[in-house]
Parts: sequence; structure tokens; C-alpha cells
Amino acid sequence: MAKRKSFDEKSKGMHKSRKLIIDTVFGREDNTQRVFGYEKEADKKREIGEVWTDSDGKTWRQEEGFKASVNKMDDVREYLKKLTTCHSEDCKTDTYAHADKKMIARTGYCVVCMRKLEQKLIEDGTWPFYEDYKITLNKLSFVREDKQRMEEALAGVKDHFETVTEDGRLEKWEWQVDIEKVKQDLKNDINGAYDAIEALLERKVALEEKLKELNHSELIK
Ligand SMILES: [Zn+2]
Repeated sequence: MAKRKSFDEKSKGMHKSRKLIIDTVFGREDNTQRVFGYEKEADKKREIGEVWTDSDGKTWRQEEGFKASVNKMDDVREYLKKLTTCHSEDCKTDTYAHADKKMIARTGYCVVCMRKLEQKLIEDGTWPFYEDYKITLNKLSFVREDKQRMEEALAGVKDHFETVTEDGRLEKWEWQVDIEKVKQDLKNDINGAYDAIEALLERKVALEEKLKELNHSELIK
């Protein structure tokens, strides 16, 4: 293959004034300086997908046959693309249906790949443990939310409420309940939630061990 003519060679027969303009634009001071900044950048062989920053601080990514400017929005776009793309390496789904999009947002896989994945888990005996694991995680987050709600209620329990009416008067409402009894009930429920969380965490750890043993640590959240 013929070597591409360098800019120097090409500019040899160039008209003086045009050469001067080019030299000025590219910051070349004299004819002995053989390498232009932009040539140095362009001549460097880059792998496709390689990202680098040039002397001006601009970031580029090598695409097939051309280089593309990379900015922060590209990073965000790339991240969002990952979030909305099926994680499966051998995914053959070209366009995502609504159900695929929902499934990817929830599990990282499109409907077809998720079904395949589940089928594999059924075949190798992992499925019952995986299902138990998912249920345990759901219960755990439910109990945690419940506990937090009760703790907030306990902190806010009062035997009266004050509200400001439309015409600016302060109205006081008395709540005719045994406030100490309400507090004690809440405390008991919170303690119960603690116990449940502890038991669920133990179950979670045991199931994670089992999933590792079955060579499915990728299922652990
Ligand atoms: Zn897929």
C-alpha cells in the first residue's frame, strides 16, 4: 500500500502566500519544523473505542474510521443507554417492546433473555433458592419501610394538634386516647420489626451463600 503523502511533501509545490496562511493557521514557524500538532494527533494509531484527551483538553473517542468528540453528555447518554439495554451478551432482540423496556428497567434483561435465564436456573436447580432470595429481599424492604414509618409515628405522637384556621385563629385539637398506651404499642411493633429484619437478614446471607455455591453469584444484589 502506498504511503500517504505527508503534509510537508504535499505543500512543497504550493504557492507562497497560501503556504504562509497554512503555516500561520497551524502555528508552523519555519520549514524545519516537520511535525504539525494536528498531524501528530491524527497519525497516532488508536484502537477503536479508545478515549484520549488532546493538548487542548478536548476528549475524543476513536470510532471505526473516524474520531468523535466526547463530552460529559456523552457519558450520561452512555450510562442511560446501559440502563435501557439488555445485559445479555447474546441478546437477539432488535427493538424493545414496552414489556422489554419494563423488564430491562427492573432486571437488566429483556423478556426473551430473562426467560432463557430463568429456564437455565430451573434446569440447574438454582431456581427455588433464587425465588426464595427474591421474596426475602422484598420482605426485607417492606419490613424496613414499615419500621421507619412506625418510628416516625412514635416521634410525632402528641395528645393534641394545633392548626391555624383560614382567618388566622389557632385551633387546638385534643386527642382523646391514652397516649402512653399508643406509644407502648408502637414500641412493641418496632421491636417486632427489628426481630423480623434480623431473621430476614440471616436468611438473606444463607441464600447468598447457596447462590455462590451454585455458581450464580451474579444473582446476588
Ligand atoms: Zn435480551
